[in-house]
Amino acid sequence: MKMCSVPNCNRKHYAKGLCKNHYHKIFYEKNKEKIKEYYRNLNKKRTKKWKDERNLKKRVKYWTDEKFREKRKEQQRECSKRYVRKKYKENPNWNKERQREYRRKHPEMFNFIMCRSYFRKLTPKQKKELIKGDVNG
Ligand SMILES: [Zn+2]
Repeated sequence: MKMCSVPNCNRKHYAKGLCKNHYHKIFYEKNKEKIKEYYRNLNKKRTKKWKDERNLKKRVKYWTDEKFREKRKEQQRECSKRYVRKKYKENPNWNKERQREYRRKHPEMFNFIMCRSYFRKLTPKQKKELIKGDVNG
């Protein structure tokens, strides 16, 4: 089995001669500013939507009216289930192809998302260590 090329790291190979931890660590360090920028912009977009008058009313209702909230959630769940079911019916490889397509179109963004989902799974302590310096265990 191929292993990570970092000395004293005994993890399985993931990409570019590195394990998952080291690959994401290096990727994160190289693109720290870009990743931050990307999420800043994403938050800006969300804030703008939030400030929209009509949305605001809905949101207030959403967060204050529990019944309304449950109903909305149920509707959303049903809606996304229906959508996914329909897509899979049309094409069983729909999701894989969608991911591949996204990766091809936005290779950088795809890595950001992978990087973030990876970082999200870490504990705060692990995150600090990973960003700060060495990963040992
Ligand atoms: Zn490693």
